[in-house]
Amino acid sequence: MERTKSKAIFGRALDVIPGGVNSPVRAGKAVGVDPPFIKSAKGCTLWDVDGNQYIDYVCSWGPMILGHGHPEVLKTLSEAIPAGTSFGAPTELEVEMAESIRQLVPSIEMVRMVNSGTEATMSAIRLARGATGREKLVKFEGCYHGHVDSLLVSAGSGVATFAIPGCPGVPRELAGHTLSLPFNDAEALRGAMEKYGQEVAAIILEPIPGNMGVIVPRPEFLKELREICNHTGALLIFDEVISGFRVRPGGAQELYGIEPDLTCLGKIIGGGLPVGAYGGKREIMENMAPEGNIYQAGTLSGNPLAMAAGLATLRILREGRVYEELERKSERLFSGLAGAAESAGVQVVINRVGSMGTLFFTGHPVTDFESASASNRELFRGFYSSMLDSGIYLAPSPFEAWFVSAAHEEEHIQRTIECAKKCFASLGG
Ligand SMILES: *Cc1c(COP(=O)(O)O)cnc(C)c1O
Repeated sequence: MERTKSKAIFGRALDVIPGGVNSPVRAGKAVGVDPPFIKSAKGCTLWDVDGNQYIDYVCSWGPMILGHGHPEVLKTLSEAIPAGTSFGAPTELEVEMAESIRQLVPSIEMVRMVNSGTEATMSAIRLARGATGREKLVKFEGCYHGHVDSLLVSAGSGVATFAIPGCPGVPRELAGHTLSLPFNDAEALRGAMEKYGQEVAAIILEPIPGNMGVIVPRPEFLKELREICNHTGALLIFDEVISGFRVRPGGAQELYGIEPDLTCLGKIIGGGLPVGAYGGKREIMENMAPEGNIYQAGTLSGNPLAMAAGLATLRILREGRVYEELERKSERLFSGLAGAAESAGVQVVINRVGSMGTLFFTGHPVTDFESASASNRELFRGFYSSMLDSGIYLAPSPFEAWFVSAAHEEEHIQRTIECAKKCFASLGG
């Protein structure tokens, strides 16, 4: 597959943007492939600047659950544009967005819109610290919560992909307030909370981790988290920036029946525009200025175009039978991939919750960051580049989720499985 135009643009990019990309995970450095530069997308198809076509399983890292350029989302957006792109003043759209979120995610009584998932988690931990008067945080190895100073400790996503040990520029005293524990390990959690429980402001987690590859949470682990928080007074923060509206309209908390105190949202609620949100119990949220005195603000927060695209997306997700369909397609895709690997004699473990899943190149169950790290990076590199050259666009890292959208049809899934068969076979079993 020729990518000469992409290569030329990447050359220019390297001169003016660090690493040539505006987010490290896009670079392809870990898989030794220069990234295709994308020109346009429709449904589940991407076109690059050289005219190559790909079936997209990155889906903008999650937001495009309805597929690219969904006609209703585009229509709502194009109707919103002539009214103005930003006012820095309240709009009814923001109230509609807050009401929609509350209707879909009942643990959220009040919500504040921000511009990214990073801002959502940063604000939620400030709120948790302010509301409890405590400073320590508990997070889990391999969970990624955006590039917030206090949360870059043992983080997933690009931090794991590029094996960055501790991020320079994060003050040691700040990182020192964060305890990082193995995911799914109730015993380690109990041990740490017995020791530090009274100092912990919040426990933050991806209830379905997607940033070390997909990990399936043990239900008893999630239950234990809720009980320990009730017992110690630490706030339970679900970072549902990926899982929110992805696995159910009400996210992982609906799927597993566990209510967090605060929830962070992003990705899907912007319908592809930059957005984030954090919300939760009224008595906690009322600590935020101007109601309370914990400060957080944003010039473009609740931007009318982002609200319009997000509301259109939520409307379709709420009304349609999108989730049953996503489940059926995803089951079909991942069981097909498992079959393809098996017939080629390549050992893989597949973790999947609804339309998010990861294929790990390992023979052992993957339940946390340590077991995810056992995934064979060399095999992934080979698989990644041959899949890309056969027109299948995956995240360029063994520690990321594949996302299936409503626009993936049987023919795309079938073609993906066929390509995977050949790519597994070329790895030489
Ligand atoms: C993507 C992500 C974030 C950060 O969101 P940005 O919009 O990239 O800042 C936070 N938490 C999780 C779980 C994510 O997947």
